[in-house]
Amino acid sequence: MVSGSTITKRLYQEVADTLIAAIGEGEYAVGDRLPAERKLAANLSVSRATIREAMIALEISGLVEIRTGSGIFVISEAAIAKSSGIHDIGPGPFELIEARTLFESEAAAIAATRISELELQELDRVCKEMTRLMEAGELAEDIDHQFHHLIALATRNSAIVSTINQMWEFRTRMPMWGKLHALISQRQGEPGWSLDRHTIVDHRRILNALRARDASAAREAMRLHLDHVKEALLKASEIDAIDLSVPQIVSSNGIGND
Ligand SMILES: [Zn+2]
Repeated sequence: MVSGSTITKRLYQEVADTLIAAIGEGEYAVGDRLPAERKLAANLSVSRATIREAMIALEISGLVEIRTGSGIFVISEAAIAKSSGIHDIGPGPFELIEARTLFESEAAAIAATRISELELQELDRVCKEMTRLMEAGELAEDIDHQFHHLIALATRNSAIVSTINQMWEFRTRMPMWGKLHALISQRQGEPGWSLDRHTIVDHRRILNALRARDASAAREAMRLHLDHVKEALLKASEIDAIDLSVPQIVSSNGIGND
């Protein structure tokens, strides 16, 4: 384990360091393609989301290059030679989504019992503004943040508000999030890319549950929304064209789309 202030490594760091060691031992040379994500996940007994985080971290460290549609390639021996493991660059984006699902679903359930009429009206305004922005093809990230922040505030619990705020702040400070966000932007115009549509429907469902003061419906609606966000992140950061080519062959008959 790493000495110093880090007590335990994040899971994606452990995976990244295992791969750095394999590259250092000559298992993969510069120019080599790393094994497919599915295979790495099985070999290292971690989820594909963790492999995805490790790869993004390795790319930020300059050790590999993610070529969407081709795979992940080792690009720097020099960097590997002087590297004694990747730096801690904050929680992984999929770790954050998992934590947000936990906190924000419960926050929505609590908010359903405490939210004011005025706050419901404000959420309605935010939903309408988000629809307008998305239909105009404009970025709706700030308005999305407002929506989630208003629900946190409606819990009337300052500890919940600050925990949720901190998770959102990680997004703006994290280089891994920036990288993932760039991948999402690249894919935004692709057919079948439905995060925006999901978001509008999901937010409305959450608002309706809050309006009905139905705690369990609000919890489920928020959970579903964040599941959609997670799916979109996984889809945006898909790398293994070869790995994914199997269902694609079937999909020429209209079967096999995810
Ligand atoms: Zn949202």
